[in-house]
Amino acid sequence: MKQTILKLARLFGLFALSRRLTRRQLRILCYHGIWIGDAPHFGDCLFMGADTFARRLDLLAREGYPLLGLDEAVDRLADGTLPDAAVVITIDDAWYGISRHMLPALVERRMPATVYVTTYYSLAQRPVLNVLLNFLVARAQALPPVDELLPAGDRKTAPMGREACATELAARVDALPTLDARWEAVRRIAQKIGADLDSIDGGRWFHLMSVDELRAARAAGIDLQLHTHTHRMHEFDQERVRGEIERNRNELARLPEVTPASLSHFCYPSGVHAPVVYPVLEEMGVRSATTTDFGLNRRGENPFALKRILDCQSMSDIELEARLSGFWSLLMELRNRIGLRSA
Ligand SMILES: [Zn+2]
Repeated sequence: MKQTILKLARLFGLFALSRRLTRRQLRILCYHGIWIGDAPHFGDCLFMGADTFARRLDLLAREGYPLLGLDEAVDRLADGTLPDAAVVITIDDAWYGISRHMLPALVERRMPATVYVTTYYSLAQRPVLNVLLNFLVARAQALPPVDELLPAGDRKTAPMGREACATELAARVDALPTLDARWEAVRRIAQKIGADLDSIDGGRWFHLMSVDELRAARAAGIDLQLHTHTHRMHEFDQERVRGEIERNRNELARLPEVTPASLSHFCYPSGVHAPVVYPVLEEMGVRSATTTDFGLNRRGENPFALKRILDCQSMSDIELEARLSGFWSLLMELRNRIGLRSA
């Protein structure tokens, strides 16, 4: 149904009209990783198929969307000098699959992109444990009761859904004092579930890019920017947010060609943001911050609350086109207005 409506809208020129109407607004695409594990696909918006990503890049080229680097786009959004329907590509977290599939696809097409790097797991070179736990629980044939899987602490006996189970396990594992202890706990859980942790670990399905891979990405012209050290905002505690960004910046500034001053764009971990941290960002010389709130960005937009278009594996090309063209945001605006009037 939705596909048919969108196809008709495009056929009747509504995408083209929307693109003209919203031409001054900046489109910022948001990607995460590429799924490099075994079938079936895991992680709709967290991991995308390599072929889907390449097809999206071809769509951008075919439809003639001008691609800009983030730094230039932020300046030109403020100046009002953006080319019509300009697009920025941003990629969150720096998953290992990015360096294997996304970066070559971008470099081959000479398309600019920014990767927001969270440094803790990049330096540790261990799987990102909460995401790995989600995967283990989602894939488990039969899930033993949570109290048999929990490494320590109060045991829960009430039955839980898979999602709640994964969240509970992640919280318990996270409370352990060292990464080695956390990794051992996950290993025990994987054993009980009957998952082959060695091939997941060896294949780096849930690893972030190593320092060497980040260096190679930078050398290939990929822009690396800030995403906190441990992917946390600490309930917007200003001092702790400052500490996260400082550590993140110091670690990234060790890379060749990366200076602390060049690290001036930030992405909120998990997209969560609050005005209380805007002054912290400003003091630290951060010039822009992206969220996962949907939308295009107008001139005069708060640079610390930039909206993005989150692309996911389950999204069809025409659904992405609807968002890129501005049709989707105009439709939402219209719906809100009608909603307000009838309220
Ligand atoms: Zn992230």
